[in-house]
Amino acid sequence: MPSSYLNFRFHFIDLAGRAKPLFLLNGRIDGESGLRLTEHSIPIEDIKQVYKYQDLIAIILKPYLALPKKLVENVLPETSALLIKVADGFAFNVKSAIDQHLSRLHAAQAKAKWEAEGKASLFRTISCPVCEAIIDITAICSEWIYCCYCENIFNQYQQLLPKSEQYNICPRCQYYGRLQVYPEVKFFFWNRRFISSFEENYICDTCAMRFYKENIWKNAIFLVGLPFSWYSKYLLTKEGDPTLTEMAQANRLAQEGNMKEADVLYSTMMLRNERHIGLLYNYGLAWLQNDEPKKAFQYFSSVIELCNNYRPARQILEIYKKTTIEKTHL
Ligand SMILES: [Zn+2]
Ligand SMILES: [Zn+2]
Repeated sequence: MPSSYLNFRFHFIDLAGRAKPLFLLNGRIDGESGLRLTEHSIPIEDIKQVYKYQDLIAIILKPYLALPKKLVENVLPETSALLIKVADGFAFNVKSAIDQHLSRLHAAQAKAKWEAEGKASLFRTISCPVCEAIIDITAICSEWIYCCYCENIFNQYQQLLPKSEQYNICPRCQYYGRLQVYPEVKFFFWNRRFISSFEENYICDTCAMRFYKENIWKNAIFLVGLPFSWYSKYLLTKEGDPTLTEMAQANRLAQEGNMKEADVLYSTMMLRNERHIGLLYNYGLAWLQNDEPKKAFQYFSSVIELCNNYRPARQILEIYKKTTIEKTHL
């Protein structure tokens, strides 16, 4: 196990999003005690997975663990998850540090299996250039590798897919796109009262574009909302990957069922970069959404050829195969 360690400060967060307690607590990650939250340690082998959203980190623990009472109090009801808000802009570092230890543990377990079968020489790993997690690539022979910890894509020489730090699967529409934090401000009258709502969402340009178009005129009535709409417009115009210029528009058309026009835009991008994993994935998803599962299957298969372990495409293919098998047995 690595000897690296990281000290950080945090709050526990409850289901209502409240910080507990109000003062900051101390945390630490290291190879000996695992994840230490205040004076209580959670061994790395007891952690199942870690998710990050902005400065929030959800630590999913293995179920039925015997935790100290102080930690049990902070486990979210009916789950085995702890939610913490990391201070000082350290959330990415905290998640990466946990993932580094967790991935090394998983790699050691996988290596032991190969050794037990007398095939230890086949075992291969690579370190993710972004989060430094160890990825088992024994069964991967593609040009690109997907980091299941930080969700970045890189090649065998540890070079990132260009601009891929800005792009990922959108949590709202499930398409591959550039993700940014967009302010969503709505103003309306309800029960003779002026109501406003404000949210910050980490979404793709397509979803932001949809929201902007739906709300620009509504917000224009209440002038105070306009700067937020303009700011969204500014974020939308920020330069992304030049080979994927039409991506947000193509995704929007596909999502609206206009596959004829979306097809033209996806094809135009394919002329520039026919081996782009995100583009092929979206092309497949667009056909799937527009009732062309066979075409979709071809694009998802191309994604897997280029990046054997690309989880978003693998998940869809598994569902596709399962439903086709079920249909043929009916
Ligand atoms: Zn990574
Ligand atoms: Zn989206």
